[in-house]
Amino acid sequence: MEKRDYYEVLGVSKGATKEEIKKAYRKQALKYHPDKNPGDKKAEENFKEAASAYEVLSNDEKRARYDRYGHEGLGGMGNGFGGAGMTMEDIFSSFGDIFGDAFGGFAGFGGSRRSSRRVNKGSNLRVKVKLTLNEIAAGTEKKIKVSKYHSCDSCGGSGAADANSMTNCTTCNGSGHVTRLTNTLLGQMQTTSVCPTCGGEGKTITRKCPVCYGEGIVQKEEVIKINIPAGVGKGMQMTLSGKGNSPRRGGINGDLLVVIDEESHPDLIREGNDLIYNLFISIPDAILGSHVEVPTVDNNVKIKIEPGTQPGKILRLRGKGLPEVNGYGRGDLLVNVNVWIPKNISREEMKLIEKFRDTESFRPKPDKSDKGFFERMRGYFEQT
Ligand SMILES: [Zn+2]
Ligand SMILES: [Zn+2]
Repeated sequence: MEKRDYYEVLGVSKGATKEEIKKAYRKQALKYHPDKNPGDKKAEENFKEAASAYEVLSNDEKRARYDRYGHEGLGGMGNGFGGAGMTMEDIFSSFGDIFGDAFGGFAGFGGSRRSSRRVNKGSNLRVKVKLTLNEIAAGTEKKIKVSKYHSCDSCGGSGAADANSMTNCTTCNGSGHVTRLTNTLLGQMQTTSVCPTCGGEGKTITRKCPVCYGEGIVQKEEVIKINIPAGVGKGMQMTLSGKGNSPRRGGINGDLLVVIDEESHPDLIREGNDLIYNLFISIPDAILGSHVEVPTVDNNVKIKIEPGTQPGKILRLRGKGLPEVNGYGRGDLLVNVNVWIPKNISREEMKLIEKFRDTESFRPKPDKSDKGFFERMRGYFEQT
């Protein structure tokens, strides 16, 4: 749908002052107010359109953007309501005060409109789950025991001892609302608000349920199964909706928030989805080449050490890291090769090593062409 110019919607000039804009909006809002136009879809559209226009033009930053770029300019600015997306509740809660006394005060209708649709929601629960790298690699199912509020079985969550212990609230006759007529400058207006006696429940309890003492909820322990996908990381949060606390006397349950924690691995270090292993090989293996085992999150794997491998070499084992959470592909396992230099050696070993000291091939010949070394050093210093 083509959006109308906001100034045109409110019927003001481009140079209108804030006060003029407010006045113009108030006029439009009163004209198209749903209480004056019950069931009139066109009026509701106009009412929302005026609210969208006011939302933008009453805000200096948004108005400046709108003046420069038009409707497109508001895209990234969270023009929160975006025309049709703006609900009546949004309008009343944001701009309710604009109507002033015309409708017997803001709380008169704004409040009731929201309360009448209010759903009781239980509070959220938060648990921490600690996982090993192996569990993270494969994904896992965890069973955790949580103590939470459940709807009381004895009274079905009503809080009353039995069906005869509940009577309709005498103030509101069970509707949960009280309606009153007020005289306003627009004529007589009917306003509705939450019943002050029963708080909107419509019922009064004469005898409380002996199990929950009228609360409608009881605290119990429950074992909850949680399926954790592969590749999660420390600090990530999963939301299990409806697995939190039940609210008092009926409604919908809160959520269970599962926060991921990570146990450190004895050999592997995690870096995003990559894993790092610090490998030590012997001097003879570095010279002669060898096959050695390195750990991964699945099984140990054998890797080949080429003859003449220098310490500091990094071997990349593709796809041996951790999987991407909710995605495709895996990280790598980076094997940092070190050469083990013994500290305490026997006389006999010492004699053997002495023989190598003066041979030509054992004399160091640093490889100045190793650009990779400088790259690695730079990377190291940037990280620390
Ligand atoms: Zn009960
Ligand atoms: Zn009542």
